[in-house]
Amino acid sequence: MKEIKLALVAGARPNFIKIAPIIKALEKYNSLEKNFFKNLYPFDSFRDIKLVPLRDFYFPEIKFNYTLIHTGQHYDENMSGTFFKLLDIPKPHVNFGVGGKSDLTQISLMLENFESFFERNSFDLVLLVGDVNSTLAASISASRFNFKIAHVEAGLRSFDRGMPEEINRVVTDSISDLFFISEISGYENLVKEGKNVSRLFFCGNVMIDSLLFNLEKIKEGDFFKRIGLEKREYVVLTLHRPSNVDDEKRFKEILSAILDSKIPYPIIYPIHPRSRKNVFEFGLQNFFSEKIESGKIFLLDPLGYIDFLNLIYFSRFVLSDSGGIQEETSFLDIPCITLRKNTERPVTIEFGTNILAGTNYEGIKRAITGVLKSPKKMSNPIPLWDGKSSFRIVKHLVEFFGER
Ligand code: UDP
Repeated sequence: MKEIKLALVAGARPNFIKIAPIIKALEKYNSLEKNFFKNLYPFDSFRDIKLVPLRDFYFPEIKFNYTLIHTGQHYDENMSGTFFKLLDIPKPHVNFGVGGKSDLTQISLMLENFESFFERNSFDLVLLVGDVNSTLAASISASRFNFKIAHVEAGLRSFDRGMPEEINRVVTDSISDLFFISEISGYENLVKEGKNVSRLFFCGNVMIDSLLFNLEKIKEGDFFKRIGLEKREYVVLTLHRPSNVDDEKRFKEILSAILDSKIPYPIIYPIHPRSRKNVFEFGLQNFFSEKIESGKIFLLDPLGYIDFLNLIYFSRFVLSDSGGIQEETSFLDIPCITLRKNTERPVTIEFGTNILAGTNYEGIKRAITGVLKSPKKMSNPIPLWDGKSSFRIVKHLVEFFGER
């Protein structure tokens, strides 16, 4: 039996949601489930991407031994702890505890921690998800130790270098060895960047694996009712991109556009810690309290995964600048207005329910009026967003190490 040592890195809320199904798939594979490799690809090719041919049954003598590293980028109960419990993620083997610091201090602390951890522990491969600071710090550190790097959600590009997440994606992809791709644009971007296609694997979206795994609980949940809401009679808002909430003028402009639009439903806003801090810093409390008194907007703490998706599932539509929420709403066929000028997830516009509203007052009002009149519906199911993406990732890891 060949034992492969993997380091799995997670640090922020969306990371926990993406790493959970990968851990489940690794454990399923390790327990030698017979049907692990059956029916993983529903078609041989998609557009001009030839999918890796299915082998009948390929099961080299490989076992994965994984170490889960939590950088501590998100650290409080409602941004981290609750996700471990709800998604049944094992306790991290190590937690660097770097949270609550400014961007660059956080990254430099992560680098120090990775250096000392990797000096003591060697890995065959470091597997990273998404585009947060933890992804960046882990990829740079792993490359210094010559560990192989696999990036899940590789190739996504907003082409906006003003976004810290875009820099994290570009740097991580420039030093990764294996690329696990969630949507067709990711594949095309990496080909344009000159990557070797034999290392590109179109696997689908692991965030949708988590969603499908929990869908019954999400549908059967009653969170929206418990807070006094009626099905399709409310709107959900999330905002946390630095370009939107760290800039006082922009933050106010977005909120004013939303609140001045004649939305005939209450707006439910689970507020990210970064945005909450800025509400106080910019003195927006009065702005909110007026609107709260008039029943237009309700602020909540960040929600646990199941409650949040229950809220989304039964909402009228969603306003957000999140990456993952564009995907979840598209998959669930709930209209989504994205409060950004660009998206690194164009498949949500092409196939899904996503509309880009931009970040200025008039654009946002126009998008809201449009969705109130005729909400966008999903045009087609999104290829390989089917709950099997993590299994495909593990299959490709097995083949990669089996061939070496
Ligand atoms: N989410 C959650 N509770 C909330 C808001 C979001 O569980 O109060 C989930 C959401 O369903 C999605 C993920 O967090 O799975 C998205 O994270 P976020 O918007 O913070 O990050 P991004 O995707 O923009 O990187």
